[in-house]
Amino acid sequence: MKEKKDCKIIQDLLPNYIEKLTNEETNQYIKNHLENCEECEKIYENMKKKLELDNEKADKREIKFLKKYRNKLRVLKIALLIIFIIFAASTARKVIIISDLSNKAEKYEASTNYKKTTCYYFAEGNYGKGETYRLGNKIKVITDNITGEDRTIMRTYGELKTLDEQGLHQYLANVYTETKERKTLHLNENTMIESGPQNVLHTKNWWKLLLYAIPTSIRETDYNGEKCYYIANFEGDNSYSPRGMYISKQTGLVIGLNNPMKGEKTCVYYQYEFDKVTENDFTEPDRTEYTVIND
Ligand SMILES: [Zn+2]
Repeated sequence: MKEKKDCKIIQDLLPNYIEKLTNEETNQYIKNHLENCEECEKIYENMKKKLELDNEKADKREIKFLKKYRNKLRVLKIALLIIFIIFAASTARKVIIISDLSNKAEKYEASTNYKKTTCYYFAEGNYGKGETYRLGNKIKVITDNITGEDRTIMRTYGELKTLDEQGLHQYLANVYTETKERKTLHLNENTMIESGPQNVLHTKNWWKLLLYAIPTSIRETDYNGEKCYYIANFEGDNSYSPRGMYISKQTGLVIGLNNPMKGEKTCVYYQYEFDKVTENDFTEPDRTEYTVIND
C-alpha cells in the first residue's frame, strides 16, 4: 500500500524531474525509487521520450516561424528599397527638368530686346491684352482692357530710370489713355512697369530646389502650339502660380497660367519674341489728338 502511494507521488514529480526543476534531495529520492520500481521506470522513460519529442517539435516550429519572418522582412526591405529608388528617380528627374528650364530662362531674363504679349480672360466681357516692347533703356507698353461696355487703351512710352531689387523697373513715361469719351495724355510720369521675361523657376540653391521639387508635379504638354511642361505645386521664390504654370521647353519662360483667379474660364498666357524690337516701335501717337493733363 505504501509503495503504491509512493508511486503516485513519484509519477506526479516526474515531469518536473525531467525538466530538472526538482531539488537534489528529491532527485535522490526519485532515482532510488526508479531503480527499484519497474512501473515508474517505464512511465519515466515514456514521459522523457515524449517530452523530448515535444521539445524537438517546438524547436522546429520556432525555426520555421523565424524563417518565415526573415523572408517577410526581406520582402519588406526590398519593397521599401524599390519605393525609395522610384521616389529618388522621380525627384531627380524633376530637379533636372526644373534646373534646365531655369538656366534657359535666366538667359532670356537678362534680355533688353523683347516683345512680351500678355492675354487674359477672366469672365464673359472681362478680358484684356498687353504688349510690352523693350529696347535697351526704352519701353513701350500698350494695354487694352475691356470690362463690359468699357474699353480703355493705354499706351505708355518710357525711358528706364532705375531698377530696384525686386526687378521692378522705374520709368519716366508719357502715358496716352484712350476711352470712349476722351483721349488724355500725361507727360513725364514716374511709373513702375513690371519687367518682361522672368525666371519663375529660380531657386537660391540646390537644397531649396530639391525641397521644392518633391511636391511638384511635371508633365509634358502643348500650350498655344508650343511644347512645354505643365508644372504644378511648385512653391518657389518667384513662382507665379503654384496651382499650375505652362513653361516653354525652348525658353524656360512661363507661357500660361492655370486658373490664376477664381472662376472656371479664367486664363492667362504670355508670348515672347526676342531681338525683333527696333526704334520704329517707339514712335509716339499724334499728341494733338490728346488733352494734356497736368497733375
Ligand atoms: Zn513506483
